[in-house]
Amino acid sequence: MMRNFAYVRAGSVAEAIKALGTKGARLYAGGTDLVGCMHDEVFRVEKVVSISGLKELKGISAKPDGGMKIGALTTVAEVAAHATLAEKYTVLAQAAGEVASPQLREQGTIGGNLCQRPRCWYFRGDFHCARKGGGTCYAVDGENQYHAIFGGAPCFFVNPSDTAVALVALQAQLTIAGPAGSRIVKIEAFFVGPDKSMDKENILASNEIVTEIHLPPLGGTVRSSYRKIRARGAWDFALASVGLVLQFDTGKVSRARIILGGVAPYPWRTEAAEKLLIGKKPDHAIAAAAGQAATEGANPMRDNGYKVEMVKGAVEESILAFV
Ligand SMILES: Cc1cc2nc3c(=O)[nH]c(=O)nc-3n(C[C@H](O)[C@H](O)[C@H](O)COP(=O)(O)OP(=O)(O)OC[C@H]3O[C@@H](n4cnc5c(N)ncnc54)[C@H](O)[C@@H]3O)c2cc1C
Repeated sequence: MMRNFAYVRAGSVAEAIKALGTKGARLYAGGTDLVGCMHDEVFRVEKVVSISGLKELKGISAKPDGGMKIGALTTVAEVAAHATLAEKYTVLAQAAGEVASPQLREQGTIGGNLCQRPRCWYFRGDFHCARKGGGTCYAVDGENQYHAIFGGAPCFFVNPSDTAVALVALQAQLTIAGPAGSRIVKIEAFFVGPDKSMDKENILASNEIVTEIHLPPLGGTVRSSYRKIRARGAWDFALASVGLVLQFDTGKVSRARIILGGVAPYPWRTEAAEKLLIGKKPDHAIAAAAGQAATEGANPMRDNGYKVEMVKGAVEESILAFV
């Protein structure tokens, strides 16, 4: 059953920010995550503030500095199908193409994909878990096969977004609009782990909106990829995924970013693996060593130890594709 709620169709970002200023107000972009949360009463919503009609937040364009700008309301499908993104920012187009199902990619937006709430079955289910203000993370002694192996405590959900992994790998920036104006933040500073907050997964205040995503210009020869492992071939969230961005100079790696998804409450950077690649021409031995290094610090629970092996294999395979 769905409870009654007020509905505001904002005519501008400023109007949306104002409407979000009351308790229980929530932003609606494509609604594919929000409406499910409302239906299942994951959290109470008194007012839905829709920005879906704001044309200024839609579209993908080139920036004068050689980078790209993506409006937060651009659909995941548009990101997946964009020719320049597919060629230059392959990791992002591939990640977007791996999100959910074709219908959800047509309706869901990239801003909503970044801000979607955790998929932990205790959080989404009928449990007054730690993330809902209770004192207990039921995953600790419960069914934890899909939970975090890195950075979990005291709440072991994993970030469900495929595009977040790619955007962290690309070192994207976000424009965030709020009552005091706009600010630009590095995407790595956007996500907030459970050690910092038990009720939010990002730095947004309740009346702030992600309006744009900025991709930096990529110099030299950059190759990138997104590899996702899931339980079935149809729509499914990542059990583990890898966003890989390698910059090559004279055949050797001069810059590496290896970001893991599906294994931590936020996209998880594995610097130990990145360091192994710098100054080297990737080969089978380096790929295997990087896969092993990517598992450093993993702390699996009773049922999710298999993710450690997945991370190792997925990182190794991702690098091998560029050997
Ligand atoms: C069956 C199913 C399978 C899925 N599988 C995957 C998957 O494999 N991989 C994956 O990555 N995702 C998956 N998803 C999630 C899906 O991609 C997201 O639901 C979608 O991208 C969210 O976009 P939206 O525009 O519909 O967001 P909404 O539902 O409108 O919003 C989601 C949340 O983000 C907030 N929000 C939205 N836009 C903004 C903004 N611009 N600024 C600030 N806050 C904002 C909303 O308030 C809300 O809390 C799946 C979803 C479903 C229902």
